[in-house]
Amino acid sequence: MNGKQLCIHGHFYQPPREDPWMDTIFPEGSAAPATHWNDRICAESYAPLAWARRLDGSGRIIELMNCFEFMSFNFGPTLLTWMERQAPEVYARVLEGDQKSLKRLGHGNAIAQIYHHVIMPLATDLDKQAEIAWALADFEARFKRPAEGMWLSEAAVDTRTLDLLAQAGVRFTILAPRQARQVADVDQDNWAPADEGTLDIREPYLVELPGGRSIAVYFYDGPLSQAVAFEGLLRHGDTFWGRLSGKAGQGLLALATDGETYGHHFKFGEMALAFALSQARAGAEGVSLTNYAAYLAENAPRRRARIHENSSWSCVHGLERWRADCGCATEHRPGWNQRWRGPLRDGLNAVKTRIDRHFMDLGATLFTDPAQALIGYGRVLCGLDTGRAFETAQFRKKLSPEQKDTAWKLLTMQKWALSSFASCAWFFDDLGRIEPLNALTFALRAMQLGMRTGMSDLEPLLLSHIGQASSNDPLLGSGHDLWNHEVRPRRETVETILAQALIRLWAGGQLPGPGGSATTDWPGLSVTVRVTGAVGTNGTGHRTGQASITWTRESGSDDSQWAWELPDGGDPLAGCIRVGESGTKCIPASYIPWGKRQALAVCWVRRVEEEVWRRQVAETRLGAHLFLPYREAQTTQTAAECWDRLWSALAWQWIMGEVAASRDFLEFLLERGRGHPERTLLTRRVGQALVELLGGQQSQPNFHAVRQILERAESVGVAPDLHESQNIYWTRFKADPTAWEAGAALGFAPL
Ligand SMILES: [Zn+2]
Repeated sequence: MNGKQLCIHGHFYQPPREDPWMDTIFPEGSAAPATHWNDRICAESYAPLAWARRLDGSGRIIELMNCFEFMSFNFGPTLLTWMERQAPEVYARVLEGDQKSLKRLGHGNAIAQIYHHVIMPLATDLDKQAEIAWALADFEARFKRPAEGMWLSEAAVDTRTLDLLAQAGVRFTILAPRQARQVADVDQDNWAPADEGTLDIREPYLVELPGGRSIAVYFYDGPLSQAVAFEGLLRHGDTFWGRLSGKAGQGLLALATDGETYGHHFKFGEMALAFALSQARAGAEGVSLTNYAAYLAENAPRRRARIHENSSWSCVHGLERWRADCGCATEHRPGWNQRWRGPLRDGLNAVKTRIDRHFMDLGATLFTDPAQALIGYGRVLCGLDTGRAFETAQFRKKLSPEQKDTAWKLLTMQKWALSSFASCAWFFDDLGRIEPLNALTFALRAMQLGMRTGMSDLEPLLLSHIGQASSNDPLLGSGHDLWNHEVRPRRETVETILAQALIRLWAGGQLPGPGGSATTDWPGLSVTVRVTGAVGTNGTGHRTGQASITWTRESGSDDSQWAWELPDGGDPLAGCIRVGESGTKCIPASYIPWGKRQALAVCWVRRVEEEVWRRQVAETRLGAHLFLPYREAQTTQTAAECWDRLWSALAWQWIMGEVAASRDFLEFLLERGRGHPERTLLTRRVGQALVELLGGQQSQPNFHAVRQILERAESVGVAPDLHESQNIYWTRFKADPTAWEAGAALGFAPL
C-alpha cells in the first residue's frame, strides 16, 4: 500500500537565553524593537505558522491554517518553557496541532528533542541519559502522551546515543542522508556502501544496536530540504508545491527543515508552506500527508542501515564544528578562524568533570542514588513530579532543611552546567557572540552553586582553557578579556539581586512606604521587601528595610537587611544600595548588567507611556468636541501644532466612536497622521481594542462595533494591527452568520 506520502518536518529551537539566576530572558539589543530574539522570532515565525494566512485571488483570507496540524515538528523544551509563559496562544496552537494530527493519523505530529540541544556524542554517558530522560518527561508533560520520536541536536549521532534512545522507548529519529554508511536488506547480509547519491530515502531503516535492540531511522530528502533553506523555494507557494509533488513517488517523501525558515528567514514562507500543505491535504496529484510515526506504524523497516559514527547534519567534518577549527561558519568571514572552539569545549568539559565529581560525592550523602536523582530531576522541572514527591523518592531519609536545600542546589547546578553545552555556543563564527558568552554564563552560575555547596572555585581552571582562546575581533580580545568584561559582571549575588528587586519595585511604582511590604518575582526567584524606614518622597530620600530571596527550585532562602540612598538627581541607577547588617557593602546600581538595566527601563517606559496615554485620552475627549469646522479660506486648524501633538488621542476618539466628527476634523486627522511618530502605537492600540471586543467572555460580541471601528480607522488612514483579532474571529466566529459583516471588514472572504 502507500501511494505518494509527504512529511515536512520543522525543527523549532532557540539557543537558551535565560539568565541563570532569574531564569528569565532579559532584553537583547539586536532584537529591538522586540525585547529579545525569542519574542521576535515568535512573532515572525511561530505565530504566523500557527495561523498561516491562505488567501484567495483578491487577497481575502480563506483560511487560517494551523501548520502544526499538518507538519511534523519538534520544539526545544527550553523554547516551549518560554512560549508557555510568554506566548500562551501560540503554545496552545502547537499542542492543538499535535492533538488533531493524533486524531487524524493515529500518531501525533510532535516529536521530542534532546533537552538542552547538546551534541550527544560529545556528552558523558550520564549526561546523555539525563538529556534524553528530561526531554521525554518534558514532552509527556506538554503533549500528554509519550514521545515516539526524538530529534537529535544537529542530528549528531553515535551508536551509544541511539542505543540509549532505544532503551528509553524512543522508536525513531531523523538523520541526513549522508550519515548513512552501509545498507542491507533486513533478512540478508548484502551490505553495500551508501551515500547521499545512492541512498533510497523513501523508507525507514532499521539500525541494529547492542543487546538485540534496534531503532528506526529516517533519512530526509537532502536536495529538497536544502532548497527550502537556501534556494528561496518558499518564495512562491505553487513553485514549492510543484517541486514537492514532482518529486513525490511511491513511498515517503520527507523533508527536514529549520522551523524558523518559515517566516523568520523567509518572510511569508509560512504562507508557501500552508499552500503546499493544503494541496497535499486535498490529495492533489495523488499526494497525501503523513508523519513519521504514522508511516512507521504501517511500514516496518525492510532494510537495515549502519551509520557514520560521530556525524551530524550541519558539519561535513563530523562533529568538529562543536570542538575544532573545521572551517564551518566562516564562509562569509574571510580571515577568521574558530580556534576558540577547542579551548571552549575543553574548559567547559573540565568544569563539568569537577562538577560531576562534586555532585556524586556530596550527592551520595543526600540522594539514595545521585545518578538516578539527576536523571529523574527532569520530571520536577516539567511538573510531572512535585518537589515533595521527588524528595520522598530520591532524598535520603531524615535530611535537615539545610541538607535538603543543598540537594536542590546540586540539581540546579547540574541544570545550568548542562545548559552550558547547548550546541549553539560553538555553531557560529566567533567566541565574542552572544551564544558562547551565554554558555560561559551558565557555567559561571553552575560554578557558583558548586562553591555555595562546598566546592572550590573553578574559575582558574576554566580560565586556564578559555584564556588560550581569542575572539576574531581584536576589540573583544581574548577569552580572558571576554570573561572579565562580559561574563563575570553578570554574576549575581544576594546583594545585586536585592538591588534589582528594589529598583524594579521603584520603577513599577510599587515600592511601599514605611511598614509596608511588596514582592517582586522572576521565574527563578522571588524577593519580598519590607520597608521599615523612609525619609523623603518617592524618587529621592532614604529607605531602609529587610528582604528575603526565595529560589523557585531550591528550598532555602537568603535574608538580609538593606538601605537605599536615592540620589538627589532622581537617577535610580546613580544610587547606592547597602546590604547586610553592617551596611558597609555598597552596590552601585549602575553595576547591574545591561540587559537587566534595560529590563528596568522597559518596565518603566511601558508603565509611564500607558499612564500618559490614559490621561491624554481622558483629556482629549473635550478637544475632539472643540475641533471646530474651518471658516472662509481656512486650510488648517488654528494652533495646528498643538492639535498635531495630540493626534493619536484625537484619532482614537473618532475611531472608537466617542465623538461625531466634521469633515475638516477627519481631513486633519488623515493629513497629520501620515508619518506621525505615534502611528505604530495607535495601530497596535486599535488592534488591541478589537481583540478585547472579540475575545471577551460574551458569546455574542458587538460585531457592529468591530465593523464600525475598522471603517472609521480606514477613513483616517489608520490600518490597525489585525493579526490577533483575525485569529480570534477564525477560531470562534467563522461559522456564525451574524459575524460575517465583521468578518468581511477583518479581511475574510465569504465562506
Ligand atoms: Zn565543520
